[in-house]
Amino acid sequence: MVLFLNKRDAAVIAKYHFWKELEKNTGTRYTPVPKTRGDFRHRLVGYINNYLTVIQFSQLNQYQPVYGVLVRYSPLLNAKDIEEKLKEDSSIIKIRGKAKSDKRGFSITKNFAWIAFDHTPKKDTVEQIANKVLNFIEVLSQYARPLPVDICEGDTCKYRLGGKTKLTFINNYPQFLCDSCIAQTSKYGEKAKEEYKNAPAKLFRGILAGTVGAFLGGIVWALVAAFFDTIAAVLAIGIHISIIRLMDKAGTKRTVWSILIATFLSFVGVVFGTYLSIIFYSLKEELAIFSITLLVEAWEILWEKPELLKQSLFFAVLGMLYSLWVVWSNTKEGLSREFKPDVEIVETDFC
Ligand SMILES: [Zn+2]
Repeated sequence: MVLFLNKRDAAVIAKYHFWKELEKNTGTRYTPVPKTRGDFRHRLVGYINNYLTVIQFSQLNQYQPVYGVLVRYSPLLNAKDIEEKLKEDSSIIKIRGKAKSDKRGFSITKNFAWIAFDHTPKKDTVEQIANKVLNFIEVLSQYARPLPVDICEGDTCKYRLGGKTKLTFINNYPQFLCDSCIAQTSKYGEKAKEEYKNAPAKLFRGILAGTVGAFLGGIVWALVAAFFDTIAAVLAIGIHISIIRLMDKAGTKRTVWSILIATFLSFVGVVFGTYLSIIFYSLKEELAIFSITLLVEAWEILWEKPELLKQSLFFAVLGMLYSLWVVWSNTKEGLSREFKPDVEIVETDFC
């Protein structure tokens, strides 16, 4: 019997074999991520030179595929200093490759290190990838001590010493926990839910930050409209997301209300942008000079010629519907992960 494979199937099989080879070369164990599909299933878990290490397929901004390597160690006191130092380290720069342009691709925190490097299936050799992982751990080993496998990491563990631990992934973050603490994990979710409920809304600060965002967004909208003679729904999405990010930065709790306020402010930004675009257009075409009269006239034109505003609002509604759907589903997903953490116990030969 001859098995015919199309190119796509062949690539899937080749990738699987690649990860199985990488498993051998790094001395880890292939442990696919449950409940996921495609490339995201690929994950290796191991104990490399005494450091708990997870190697997995991941993505950075702009959906750039990468190998992500997470290494656990005993808590660091000066993680930030080490991060600054290692960012400049030539061996780390070499490992990161092109992915180094993304600042989310490297971090040293108190409890773990994370590095992302280019995933280019046609070019990568198993040996190169394995070497990158091993080099990373070697660099880290100069700064951090391994994490003991037999000490439970539970915050309020009663059996911290001498107990038997299990490698437990909580929302994909690996840690060593005893049975008693694993049983407690469902309570983490309840605690997170309680904290979210009790957190102050900080709506006023959010509205201030969001208004600044609407103002800046309006300027961008007007510049694009006046100089490129075009408006697009994607701009409205950009304004909406920027306002929500600014509100997050201001410490506003994400709720249905905060998202609706962001949406309202986005519309204010679009109306303001349309008004400004009339001013910018008049100046660009030398129809008027900048004066109070122009500001007043532009305001009158905005309402007397409603086609312009209608068109802007049409695109704003299109963009906003999409943006609302994305933001709301991400927020809901994020909260439910916090309230109902995903707990996975991984069998290992080291604990
Ligand atoms: Zn414990």
